[in-house]
Amino acid sequence: MAFQSEYAPVAPVELPIHEAVLGKAAEYGETPALIDGTNGDTITYGQLDAFHRRVAAALTEAGLRQGDVLALHSPNTIAYPVVFYAATRAGASVTTVHPLSTAEELAKQLADSSARWIVTVSPLLGVARRAAELVGGIEEIFVCDRAEGHRSVLDMLASTAPEPRLAIDPSEDIAVLPYSSGTTGLPKGVMLTHRSIATNLAQLDPFIPVGPGDRILAVLPFFHIYGLTALMNAPLRKGATVVVLPRFDLAQFLTAIDKHRINGLYVAPPIVLALAKHPAVATYDLSSLEYVVSAAAPLDAALARACSHRLGLPPVLQAYGMTELSPGTHAVPRNAPNPPPGTVGKLLPGTEMRILSLDDPTKDMGVGEEGEIAIRGPQVMKGYLGRPDATAAMIDADGWVHTGDVGRTDADGWLFVVDRVKELIKYKGFQVAPAELEALLLTHEDIADAAVVGVYDADGEEVPMAYVVPQPSARLTEADVTAYVAERVAPYKKVRRVAFLTSVPRAATGKILRRELRALHAREGDRA
Ligand code: AMP
Repeated sequence: MAFQSEYAPVAPVELPIHEAVLGKAAEYGETPALIDGTNGDTITYGQLDAFHRRVAAALTEAGLRQGDVLALHSPNTIAYPVVFYAATRAGASVTTVHPLSTAEELAKQLADSSARWIVTVSPLLGVARRAAELVGGIEEIFVCDRAEGHRSVLDMLASTAPEPRLAIDPSEDIAVLPYSSGTTGLPKGVMLTHRSIATNLAQLDPFIPVGPGDRILAVLPFFHIYGLTALMNAPLRKGATVVVLPRFDLAQFLTAIDKHRINGLYVAPPIVLALAKHPAVATYDLSSLEYVVSAAAPLDAALARACSHRLGLPPVLQAYGMTELSPGTHAVPRNAPNPPPGTVGKLLPGTEMRILSLDDPTKDMGVGEEGEIAIRGPQVMKGYLGRPDATAAMIDADGWVHTGDVGRTDADGWLFVVDRVKELIKYKGFQVAPAELEALLLTHEDIADAAVVGVYDADGEEVPMAYVVPQPSARLTEADVTAYVAERVAPYKKVRRVAFLTSVPRAATGKILRRELRALHAREGDRA
């Protein structure tokens, strides 16, 4: 039995994303679209409209062609949306990159996506250059600020080159190519069409309560589909003002809420934790806040309550989704009278869900019963770039995406996410792919075998833990293992717990029995 949304379906949005988002930008004129939360620099809607067109023209003049892939390698800045919409207007697909990626990680993404262009910022230029050397085939590296030897987006803002006039097919052409490991294996390019992300914005309309006059704080990164949707596309489509911060720093974050009278927060659970518990929160005026939305990882119901009580706000509103789903499938409507604690929300318009038995995936579970969440709707990705097998493993013949999350609904249609059966680990809402860390650990000469799983620390935060089998005569310490990984990956992927084993539990097929390791951790903690 498929669960249906109780909302009327929305028509698919057959527009390129820059038109779906910026169609009314010129009308919003002098309204600030983007404010830099660190120095107050502002881009109005009128400027955003003009700037992204001129940068599109300049990119085209520089040689970018329709269908090219452009890597956007930057923390959040007010230039980020300008570059994003300029690139899509010039016909590119944008592959968004974690700004803390190492050169090797960036090189992998550049190679896998066949990127030809990089847009970065001067502090990240060393990484971008090194990655470009490793991979080859990069036409040009642009910077959003200034750096000797590189053309700047700032100069492109005044371009007089002719604006590209392209025929973009919203249902086929890829607007954004974020990387996700999905339910298994290494990060893969997720092909999201203009139509899928533009339609998801329309599906979120009854839930994301953003409009003119709203002031949203963009502290989660734009490179992740949650930030791209909730902090960039959704508010800019509605004439809201987005205050942009480059990273999460508690004092800067609280100052920005206070100073810019932020009324809507879209955050991940670690920020809910800080808002609920950190003593500094009491020293700022946060009275402008009207609502807090949390998504990207499980949120403890008691923590959510502590946060809303402390701030004097209605319950924290959760949303649920994944990169492969453009990303939203569920959200708690802001006007819902009494959402049950812990729910991630109701099905978005035009979205169907099945709850599949964990023992027999052909069997549907009913109300109140747990199973794997499967989703069908216009927001389903086109597939993983260049990986038909991985795509087929994720989207079945009837179009259902098997999410790898375990959930149940109540009689009123509220969904609860209760577990995860996929490999994925979420550290502070960021994806950590165990397969990637396992492959890295096996390159250490003293490691015979390794498995990585997510375990929960005292604060309820999920962290990557490595179970390591040392080579017979090796003298390997936990510190050796954590240091080896930390030197080679972006900081959020660090292994934060290590235990030694004599063998990794595996099924006959060789598949790591991750549940056994998680159960072992539940019994023995960090000692194995
Ligand atoms: P990503 O593709 O990085 O957005 O990761 C998607 C995954 O994050 C989902 O499949 C879930 O495992 C997890 N996730 C997202 N939102 C929630 C939520 N509200 N509660 C629990 N897990 C979530």
